Amino acid sequence: MSRFDVIVVGGGLVGAAAARAFASAGLETALVDRAPVETGAAFDGRTTAISHASVQVLRGVGLWPAIAAYAEPMADIRITDGEAPVFLHYDHREVGDEPFGYIVENRLIRGAAAALLEDTPNISVLSPAVAEKSERGGGLARLFLAGGGVLEAPLITAADGRGSPLRREAGIGVVEWTYGQKALVLTVGHEEPHGNVAHERFLAGGPFAILPMTDGAEGEHRSSIVWSERSDLADALLRLDDARFLQELAWRFGDFLGELRLIGPRWCWPVGLVVAERFHAERLALAGDAACGIHPIAGQGFNLGIRGVAALGECVVDAFRLGLDIGGPAVLADYERRQRAQSVLLAGITDGLNRLFSNDIPPVRAARQLGLAAVGRMPGLKRAFMRHAMGVAGAPPRLVRGEPL
Ligand SMILES: Cc1cc2nc3c(=O)[nH]c(=O)nc-3n(C[C@H](O)[C@H](O)[C@H](O)COP(=O)(O)OP(=O)(O)OC[C@H]3O[C@@H](n4cnc5c(N)ncnc54)[C@H](O)[C@@H]3O)c2cc1C
Repeated sequence: MSRFDVIVVGGGLVGAAAARAFASAGLETALVDRAPVETGAAFDGRTTAISHASVQVLRGVGLWPAIAAYAEPMADIRITDGEAPVFLHYDHREVGDEPFGYIVENRLIRGAAAALLEDTPNISVLSPAVAEKSERGGGLARLFLAGGGVLEAPLITAADGRGSPLRREAGIGVVEWTYGQKALVLTVGHEEPHGNVAHERFLAGGPFAILPMTDGAEGEHRSSIVWSERSDLADALLRLDDARFLQELAWRFGDFLGELRLIGPRWCWPVGLVVAERFHAERLALAGDAACGIHPIAGQGFNLGIRGVAALGECVVDAFRLGLDIGGPAVLADYERRQRAQSVLLAGITDGLNRLFSNDIPPVRAARQLGLAAVGRMPGLKRAFMRHAMGVAGAPPRLVRGEPL
């Protein structure tokens, strides 16, 4: 039996940041993941758009310096609706000096996190290790690992993904649905530099995003593609050979960056929404996709999870400093109050945007084009949307505001 202040189950991008947040405030932390938490993984074509707000949090928990060297700034965002001539252009200079965010390869974020976790004295990384079940009550939580081994702490944080076994075990229900869409994710090389502009194209099958990446090792200009399509079409596209796939990609992408080339593998994920009915149970807090997983339309899933890390970190660390019970009902209710409304709001926005833009019914198309034109002409509303994209709207937790935990 090993005793900790907090146990984090799940060493994905959110769990790793949570472990680091707790440990940076002096809590003895265990991090359990069934997959090896590893550095030096090969290029796999997956990227994440990290918002300005998440950068603040990652900086606050000491992770950002290790990621910054691999991060490509996203200075402008250009939104278009199919072939329509109207478009919306978000220029970061309209809201300040900072870019909207950065595009970073997932393997590099994971690698940086893994190296840092290894070097953090009050984090014990247990991986590969499967969290089999928990027992929570009597002022303590116990986590039983497959193959033996029991961990004990006043609080377990479940960052164990969309299907969260710990959420299910605790009997927390979810509101969930799928969109009949899958997201294709891949990297392309192109002749011309991207100029740090991200493009979101709303096509009939779903949103098509072109996100600026750092140049490759040989100086090749690169962009990451997140391409939502009807599930049957996405499966068919995935089966095409490279030449046919590139043709399909090219007419959606356009020729504004010159000739295109596929780099690395293509990935495909079913897209859906899942929101937990509660974000906590006795001595258990849900974080990241375990609490709320959303459509990738605005690239905000990870960012929402990181905002949750900042909120949970603040509630837990404040209680810890006062010598209070960090897994008690008051602390967990406070976390729920700070993070759930924000999550439900973002889930609703991404859901609505996807429904509004993923169809080609003429009156709907006309209405949304009017909407795009109207937002472009209303500087106040446009600035409010930009602040949302940066993740700094509302009443953000301390780490998001750039203050220490
Ligand atoms: C196509 C696509 C593109 C996206 N792009 C963006 C983007 O640009 N920006 C953005 O903000 N978000 C993006 N997202 C969303 C983002 O990827 C997720 O929100 C984020 O990765 C969730 O991280 P997580 O740590 O909560 O969960 P996960 O990454 O799912 O990690 C869960 C971890 O828990 C471990 N685990 C599970 N069960 C157990 C167990 N019983 N015992 C031990 N370990 C366990 C797993 O091994 C895993 O490592 C995208 C999502 C998709 C599908």
